[in-house]
Amino acid sequence: MTDLTPTRFDVLVAGGAAAGLCAAIAARLAGASVRLVEAAPEALRGGNTRHARNFRIAHAGPAPYVPDSYRPEEFLADLLRVTGGDTDEPLARTLIRASAGIAPWLLAAGVRLQALDRGVLPYSRRTAFLLGGGKAMVNALYATAEALGVVVSYDTTLVDLRPDDGDCAVVLDTAAGRESMLSRAVVVATGGHQADLAQLRVDLGPAADRLVVRGSQYCTGHGLDLLLGLGAEPVGDRASAHLVAVDARGPRFDGGIVTRMTGIPHGIVVDRTGRRLADERADTRRTHYAQWGPRIAACPDQLAYLIVDQDGLRRVGPTALAPVTAPSVAELARRLEIDPASLDATVRTFNAEAAEREPAVRPLAALPLAAWPLLPGLTFTHFGVAVDTGMRVRLRGGRRSERVFAAGTTMAANVLRHGYLAGLGLTLAAVSGRIAGEEAARAAA
Ligand SMILES: Cc1cc2nc3c(=O)[nH]c(=O)nc-3n(C[C@H](O)[C@H](O)[C@H](O)COP(=O)(O)OP(=O)(O)OC[C@H]3O[C@@H](n4cnc5c(N)ncnc54)[C@H](O)[C@@H]3O)c2cc1C
Repeated sequence: MTDLTPTRFDVLVAGGAAAGLCAAIAARLAGASVRLVEAAPEALRGGNTRHARNFRIAHAGPAPYVPDSYRPEEFLADLLRVTGGDTDEPLARTLIRASAGIAPWLLAAGVRLQALDRGVLPYSRRTAFLLGGGKAMVNALYATAEALGVVVSYDTTLVDLRPDDGDCAVVLDTAAGRESMLSRAVVVATGGHQADLAQLRVDLGPAADRLVVRGSQYCTGHGLDLLLGLGAEPVGDRASAHLVAVDARGPRFDGGIVTRMTGIPHGIVVDRTGRRLADERADTRRTHYAQWGPRIAACPDQLAYLIVDQDGLRRVGPTALAPVTAPSVAELARRLEIDPASLDATVRTFNAEAAEREPAVRPLAALPLAAWPLLPGLTFTHFGVAVDTGMRVRLRGGRRSERVFAAGTTMAANVLRHGYLAGLGLTLAAVSGRIAGEEAARAAA
């Protein structure tokens, strides 16, 4: 069959998740002809965005999907707090201002948001929740992009990019082989490099060998490498990553949020030698699991175990994978292959300390015991390329590219170089994608 896909577009978007889809829709709405290439097959499209639940928005008053208000200055203050002020503040202000308009824009693009009055999700005046989660968002944005006339190609990876005065020469790897095309402007929205296991080993050392990648296996950092090869200024730290505690029995990639372990303050966490890593009750916030990722990464074999008794089991609630149970400490040690004498001594010491801190801390007394094996799970890396406030890629030596743009995780480290702010990743993706798409359409015209 003859391939009717034209070989020249106004805008090529690489990466078919939140940032790329928002860029493609925005560029198309601005009148550009747009092709979007997604490395994954159709069934696995949508990158890390598939796993996201909520996004952070500045707003002046209540809306059906978000209560109260959250002023841009509060948003910026939260960002400055988690980054210790190490952020590109003019860019952060631009993106925060634009976050105020992103929910209506996404709604108009077919995305559905959870209504507040349902009361089934945690209260937040800072974030709106996606109805049906990230996968529903991705499906809605693809449907809208295609209805608008964006040409979508799956199983298609951007492998080379050479901007010239007029056009960018682009090389794609497709199921049918190599393909060359021309595009007036290119938006690189290919996520981070969290699935590049060889590079992670260089950056993080042997601890990377057992890392669980919570998101897409298609985010191999290829787009980032291409931009760096063009002279893009790097931002952030390749070796800095957001690590959380996940069930070791989950899949190596794409386990998403269901394998994350959130019940740590209800038990004790020990390594393979039976020793506790830290005080499990020192941080009982909902986000406590993020403290434990780096601790588990530092354990022998990066392996640890959360152990609870029957009281703790009730408090932990249901988990994706059932715990290992045992009627005694000795039997649990045998099943987990931990030295029984060492685990017994740890539990005795913990119980003696707990007896002095009751009722705030309860001893592990109600048998049988239950345990989950834990590994560090990588959510995202704090590394990308520098952009200006129009998402144009900034080049080393103070220049900027007029035709190459970056959006989403590919540029998120401009704003979030370390730390974590719930709902920020998806906001940065949608907002920067929208801006990049509009600016790329303008550059193409
Ligand atoms: C488990 C989990 C839960 C999360 N929950 C939340 C949340 O609730 N709220 C929040 O704000 N953030 C959350 N995040 C972070 C959030 O998902 C990301 O910040 C956001 O989705 C990034 O979107 P993106 O479009 O930039 O990149 P991604 O969603 O990572 O997508 C990148 C896309 O590029 C494609 N690609 C890669 N290389 C190429 C190439 N060379 N050519 C073509 N295509 C390529 C990939 O296939 C992928 O589709 C979560 C992340 C994970 C892993």
